[in-house]
Amino acid sequence: MFATTLIGRFVIVMAALGCLAPMPLRADPADMLLLNGRIVTLDDTSSVKEALAITGDRISATGSDDQMRKLAGADTTIIDLGGRTVIPGLIDSHIHLIRAGFRYADEVGWNGTTSIADALERLRSAALRAKPGAWLIVAGGWTPRQFTESRRPTEAEIAAVASDHPVYVQLFYGSVLINAMGREMLGIKSEDDLPSSAKFDRNGDGTANGWIVGPGAAIISLYSRLPKPQLPEAIDGTRRYMRQLSQFGLTGVIDPGGHNLAPEDYAALVQLWRERALPLRVVYSIFAPRPGKELEDFQTYTRFLPMDTGDDLLRFNGIGECVTWGMYNNENPTDADKERFYRVALWAATQGMTLTVHWNNDRSVHHLLDVLERVNRELPIAKLRWSIAHLHDASDASLQRMKALGVGWLMQDGLYFSAPSYIAERGPAQMSRTPPIVSALRLALPVGGGTDANRVMIPSPFVSLRWMLDGRTVDGIATRGAQEIPSREEALRLYTEGSAWFAHDESRRGRLRPGMLADLAVLSEDYFNVPLLRIAQIESLMTMVGGKIVYAAGPFSNLEPKH
Ligand SMILES: [Zn+2]
Repeated sequence: MFATTLIGRFVIVMAALGCLAPMPLRADPADMLLLNGRIVTLDDTSSVKEALAITGDRISATGSDDQMRKLAGADTTIIDLGGRTVIPGLIDSHIHLIRAGFRYADEVGWNGTTSIADALERLRSAALRAKPGAWLIVAGGWTPRQFTESRRPTEAEIAAVASDHPVYVQLFYGSVLINAMGREMLGIKSEDDLPSSAKFDRNGDGTANGWIVGPGAAIISLYSRLPKPQLPEAIDGTRRYMRQLSQFGLTGVIDPGGHNLAPEDYAALVQLWRERALPLRVVYSIFAPRPGKELEDFQTYTRFLPMDTGDDLLRFNGIGECVTWGMYNNENPTDADKERFYRVALWAATQGMTLTVHWNNDRSVHHLLDVLERVNRELPIAKLRWSIAHLHDASDASLQRMKALGVGWLMQDGLYFSAPSYIAERGPAQMSRTPPIVSALRLALPVGGGTDANRVMIPSPFVSLRWMLDGRTVDGIATRGAQEIPSREEALRLYTEGSAWFAHDESRRGRLRPGMLADLAVLSEDYFNVPLLRIAQIESLMTMVGGKIVYAAGPFSNLEPKH
């Protein structure tokens, strides 16, 4: 009797600690049951279940409708999924959410527009809604190739729909159109008022056409002249941006900071977190603030913000994607640049800190890998979940070096927009293995799915998944060969447990299994069986984070949380 009680207590304590998961606690009825669905668990056997039970913020059981019904109590919410597909909540492993969100109230997105007329219509309706004189900003996330006209809009076209507003339209990191009112407000009267190395783009006859062209640094510097929103607008923008992500079934992001993002720009996100109003989990890193002061700045910031500070909804995850400016978009770093990077990276390793690095081209990534290997000889980094972002053309040799270091690869769909210029530069043979998704999977390299939105890409995970599966660009050009096309399940795993790995979270999210966080999305169409082309149009009809419904639409709209 005594022994039984002790064992009973032990079971209760262990269950409370979560140690006995996945056993459901039969005594406690579930808070919520999702019945009559096609629940894609992404567990080890890729099992698909009919129903799922949620208790607190966790999945407490999965199984058949009949099995789950036994877990119902008087207060259990029961949702009939109507046969719909449920997937683990999607996680974008490299998206500039914080930067996009805090300015989103001023932003006009051209996501999904297919003609200049469409895009101008978005601008016209934004102009009607905006306060007089307010900036209208298209910060990126579009390409002329998505338009049937296959060109940029002209200044006259922009003026025709938004004459009473300053307008700023950025195209990737190469050109910007600022209309006459905007140029006046920014004090741009002549080319001398532009950042050095930027210039007015000119027509064949030498007349300026309204566009400004220049290297990335000049474009970033132009953007930084735009006035910043006040906190209430920044909060509103962040809320609206995140809602768009919930609509795509995203339940988590990994944010790598970025240009044009100062410490005070995090205030909106932090405020929403304090109000417990974040509809998705944000894991973020710090982008090196000042060139030449990287180590000093990282040391100062992290004295107040050690690794892992935060909770399940907002958590600090180390440094990057700019670790040092000398090794950022620099394909020919000097020995001094490499030494500086080495010192910062070694310091990060001693602090047990995660690190992520932006690197574009395989031809120069040996500079980075050499330094990472040098750090690894001093202090093994495998447990720290370091990563390289982008590297679309990673060679087998580079992937193998990453694998040996335990360094993962953050892969996005940037080439969905920019493949044609890539093909022109590198040729179709290279393009056909870019990005080498299957090669990376074959090596069992950690790979995270993502988009790199909002300047170079749009945030839709379903566009990114479709790109992984067919390698077709926004204007329908076939690029990647069959040898680098993953299966639908493999692609989805990159966007769930694959991304979760980079947040040290793969044991808690990314699968729908008892004991894991109840982060999931009920899809508008069955990702696994819908024709490939339709995958890009899939949306979530209900998104849940930690068992809480954060977004609901269509048949579930009565479950939509109050805003
Ligand atoms: Zn980057």
